[in-house]
Amino acid sequence: MTRCYNFCAGPAALPQVVLEKARDEMLDWHGAGLSIMEMSHRSPEVVGVAQRAEADLRELLGISDDYAVLFLQGGASTQFAAVPLNLAGENDLADYVNTGQWSKKAIAEGRRFTRVNVAASSEDSNFSTIPPRESWQLSADAAYLHYTPNETIGGVEYFWVPEASAPLVVDMSSTILSRPVNVADYGVIYAGAQKNIGPAGLTLVIVRRDLLGRAGDKCPAMLNWQTAADNDSMYNTPPTFALYLAGLVFEWLKEQGGLAAMERLNRRKAGKLYAAIDSSAFYANPVEVQSRSLMNVPFTLADDALDKQFLAEADAAGLLNLKGHRSVGGMRASIYNAVGEDAVDALIAFMQDFEQRNG
Ligand SMILES: *Cc1c(COP(=O)(O)O)cnc(C)c1O
Repeated sequence: MTRCYNFCAGPAALPQVVLEKARDEMLDWHGAGLSIMEMSHRSPEVVGVAQRAEADLRELLGISDDYAVLFLQGGASTQFAAVPLNLAGENDLADYVNTGQWSKKAIAEGRRFTRVNVAASSEDSNFSTIPPRESWQLSADAAYLHYTPNETIGGVEYFWVPEASAPLVVDMSSTILSRPVNVADYGVIYAGAQKNIGPAGLTLVIVRRDLLGRAGDKCPAMLNWQTAADNDSMYNTPPTFALYLAGLVFEWLKEQGGLAAMERLNRRKAGKLYAAIDSSAFYANPVEVQSRSLMNVPFTLADDALDKQFLAEADAAGLLNLKGHRSVGGMRASIYNAVGEDAVDALIAFMQDFEQRNG
């Protein structure tokens, strides 16, 4: 068996040792005579798996008891609606910052449920920048301020936390667990699992407890964070297998030395790849240097007529899923936690060889 290097933006690569452990436990989980997928979510086994996953996640991110940790479904996209439904009435005002395709989707969905003020946008720079905080036009009475710390498609990442009086609500889908964050800076952190947490089907919401209980009567029970918190994320059947796999990923992250160690590795991986792009006249990355994502690295070739050949040869070399998002074209290498430095080295060697033959 040969496992390829996988640069998919999501669902993304998972650590091989996690997959091996899941394989070994697949038919008979810890001597239970069943797979974990086949057990009641109310069983002590599955409840234990969920509790351990939450405890490990709390340890990794340093999440205090002031915050509830919710394991939900529906992806980050469902939270685009859940955020206003839980935090703002129809006539309230919410501030949003638009730095790319995922911000835009959050804004469009937010508008269905509350009044939205787009406080700043980098659309004029084709989403290659982050508007400086001084330029943001925040509302005096916003229910919350929503932004996207890492734009997965444009490859733009915040390395600072904006100052604001409203609670910060952030879509961390593609940056969570890639480096330490100070959870206390935020009101709500949410993320789809399929980038840096585990398989698709699980959604993480970390919410400051004083922000619970604000949803109106019309908020569906399945979107109500208070309902989820009151029921330990088991108001209905949770995605038990995805939760189990996420728990294995959290254990793996602890074994790697936690998020400070991941940050060192991720900075080294991204640093090498950007250096290779910048030192060549053949490859280019459009993002302002101080906002370049550690997780998603888009790049273009000097001649886009070569894109197809690049992708075909990369595939043949075992470097998969490098095609850029359809909205921006070019290439994108997603180098999440589970994508090792060896994968980045192999990509750089391939890029340099391709340039030599075609540049
Ligand atoms: C992938 C992604 C989403 C969409 O997540 P789903 O779980 O598919 O709904 C939203 N926001 C960001 C930043 C993402 O990377």
